[in-house]
Amino acid sequence: MLGKRYYINPETLRYERVRLSSRQLVRYLGIFSFGLIILAILMRYGFERVFPTPRQIIYQKENSVLRSEYAALNSDLLEVEAQLSDLRNRDDRFYRAILSLDPVPNSIRGAGTGGSERDQHLLAIREPGMVRDVSHRIDNISNRVKIQSISLENVYEEALNAQHFLACKPSINPISPADPYWLTSTYGYRKDPFTKKRTAHHGIDMAGRVGTDIHCTGAGIVSFARINKYGYGKEVVVDHGFGYTSRYAHLDEIYVEVGQKIDRGELVGTLGSTGRSTGPHLHYEIRKDNIAVNPTYFFYENLSSQEYNMLASRASEQQGPYRPVGYSQK
Ligand SMILES: [Zn+2]
Repeated sequence: MLGKRYYINPETLRYERVRLSSRQLVRYLGIFSFGLIILAILMRYGFERVFPTPRQIIYQKENSVLRSEYAALNSDLLEVEAQLSDLRNRDDRFYRAILSLDPVPNSIRGAGTGGSERDQHLLAIREPGMVRDVSHRIDNISNRVKIQSISLENVYEEALNAQHFLACKPSINPISPADPYWLTSTYGYRKDPFTKKRTAHHGIDMAGRVGTDIHCTGAGIVSFARINKYGYGKEVVVDHGFGYTSRYAHLDEIYVEVGQKIDRGELVGTLGSTGRSTGPHLHYEIRKDNIAVNPTYFFYENLSSQEYNMLASRASEQQGPYRPVGYSQK
């Protein structure tokens, strides 16, 4: 193209060299350089494809290792997700159900974490989908683990509370089965032994020998331990927490003091006939949130089935717990 070219000059009849104008020269040079550049690019990529550089070989190997690692990671994630779902089911349907806790709402369980900012960085790589998927799933798992761990902490506290409640709740007979006693008055309405009027009896009366040991029926703190001027005589009240109190009235002797911690089975005093009493007996009473409840339901394990049936049938005649009007009953 740029080789020497000749033509016949009609005037001199001699061959003479064709001379290019400078504009033509620039144009030819431009085309030539452009062609060279295209050729160089094609050669470079073609060459690399056939003969990759050592660095490219390393990258290719790394890439294939990463792909298989991602595949393995994906199947590991599936397993972790399944385990988490199992834990969640057991938490909601078993642990929380036993302790009467509501299941964790789906809106909280499913709360995601913001990933859009991280996704922006992923745009720099060639296949962001694969990495994004794994990264989102890990975020999701980490979130679920956090919520699960809070829920289980809650369950643990509630279980401790339940254990404590079982230790505190009045649940044994205040008189040992080894000591002789008989039930003289049940819980509910009865004819008052003094006024002969039909009145509510807030507890049960257990007659026995003066001096018989009276046991505390659940762990708690003594909240009253002296003579009750309304007729209960020498009286002990134990606060068991959780809204429960137990009352031991007409005692002969009091062994405890107000503020004292007391365990189930420990002695509060002895059976007597102090206060408004027609004979030696224990008036035993349980209140829940200051409402008298039937003590029979709290120590049935220590009663014979005959005694229990007698108390239960008498109690079922009543309308249930009622608010006390005062301490006029014994
Ligand atoms: Zn009584």
